[in-house]
Amino acid sequence: MRNIAIVGGGQAGLPLAIGLLDNGYNVTVVTNRTPENIRNGKVLSSQCMFDDALQIERDLGLNLWEKNCPNVDGIGFTVPSDVNPGEKAVTWNARLDNPAQSVDQRVKIPLWMELFSSKGGNLIIDDMGVPELELLSSSHDLVILAAGKGEVVKLFERDEERSAFSTPQRALALTYVNGMEDNDEYSKVGFNLIPGVGEYFAFPALTTSGPCHIMVFEGIPGGEMDCWNGIDSPQEHLETSKKILEKYLPWEAERCKNIELTDKNGILAGRFPPTIRKPVMTLPSGRLVFGLGDAVATNDPITGQGSNNATKACKIYLDAILARGDQPYTAEWMNETFETFWDYAADVVDWTNSLLTPPPPHILELLSAAQQSPSLASLISNGFNHPPSLYPWWKDPQLCSELIQKHLNA
Ligand SMILES: Cc1cc2nc3c(=O)[nH]c(=O)nc-3n(C[C@H](O)[C@H](O)[C@H](O)COP(=O)(O)OP(=O)(O)OC[C@H]3O[C@@H](n4cnc5c(N)ncnc54)[C@H](O)[C@@H]3O)c2cc1C
Repeated sequence: MRNIAIVGGGQAGLPLAIGLLDNGYNVTVVTNRTPENIRNGKVLSSQCMFDDALQIERDLGLNLWEKNCPNVDGIGFTVPSDVNPGEKAVTWNARLDNPAQSVDQRVKIPLWMELFSSKGGNLIIDDMGVPELELLSSSHDLVILAAGKGEVVKLFERDEERSAFSTPQRALALTYVNGMEDNDEYSKVGFNLIPGVGEYFAFPALTTSGPCHIMVFEGIPGGEMDCWNGIDSPQEHLETSKKILEKYLPWEAERCKNIELTDKNGILAGRFPPTIRKPVMTLPSGRLVFGLGDAVATNDPITGQGSNNATKACKIYLDAILARGDQPYTAEWMNETFETFWDYAADVVDWTNSLLTPPPPHILELLSAAQQSPSLASLISNGFNHPPSLYPWWKDPQLCSELIQKHLNA
């Protein structure tokens, strides 16, 4: 039986490892944090996942929290008025065809690690660099590097053509809270776009202590929501979160009058440049390492696609490995496998990047027309599950305009 090593036990690496184990492969996962360390550490993500990606987890038997995790039933979109402060210029909501869910990675990853071990997988805790990758590749048929945003992934060459940015496009912050009021007909990712300042969205999730809400702040660098540097206490982080809402989004502040942090580690602040890397690394020995997940395709969280992409890539890699049988895992096979993923991900990356720069007129027209057209609102909302469904019209002003007219006249 073939021996496969996966470096990085996260959203991409562990489902692939478990999928391979279930198909009779010998699998080693080397990752640099213990289950306890992750469980007791800071939050890692807001990890909202839509139905297609959740289905992959279901198919792998990894949907262990589906019954306990609150559903996200829709998407909402709001732009505050710049002429009448405190009022909304645009606002609409639409239901998702199937619910999304967000299970705190501090809940999910440790249990998946334990599940992997209990199924006979070889789990090693180590921080991997080139010498360790050399050792691993000398004793395994295939080494996959799924180390997220770890330093080691910089060994994959950056793909200049496919990387639209070289600097972080948003100052990110997460605040996990209890006590947020949900006063709408259905739960949703409530997305607010504050021109020139950034974006804010919140949605229900499952954390270490049970159901909660996650607040996500996407501040334009240098703008007023880029305000997290120097905040070192969890309480100050919570107060800053509330102040942003009070200043720009009073309807969101209203929901947050009684919020408190889920735990002292329920906060995060940081920034990173969205980056696409070449998927094959050649070690000094000439042996190959194949990249998966954020390691080779890092998106800004503005559209909540990273975990979804990582899971969809994992499924493509699993199918390709199973189909490969006993043939060698060549660079050509790795590149082809990645291109299968890229056939899907190119639109996801383009869509995500398009929301990081000021929207062109046809997108502004689209987002405001959705207020008049429930079918348009539904189309945009369900695009979160499968962003290629928004193409080619998302980036083609003529096609987009025709689509808007079709929906407005329907
Ligand atoms: C603020 C924020 C909000 C987000 N919100 C969403 C969202 O709502 N929806 C969504 O789909 N995505 C979201 N994401 C993105 C999502 O979390 C990631 O895309 C996803 O976790 C990527 O999975 P991965 O397995 O590639 O990497 P990770 O999940 O990061 O796993 C990588 C693993 O590798 C380990 N590792 C790192 N370096 C080494 C090393 N040298 N040796 C051994 N192990 C190593 C790490 O400890 C980690 O366990 C968000 C991200 C951020 C930062």
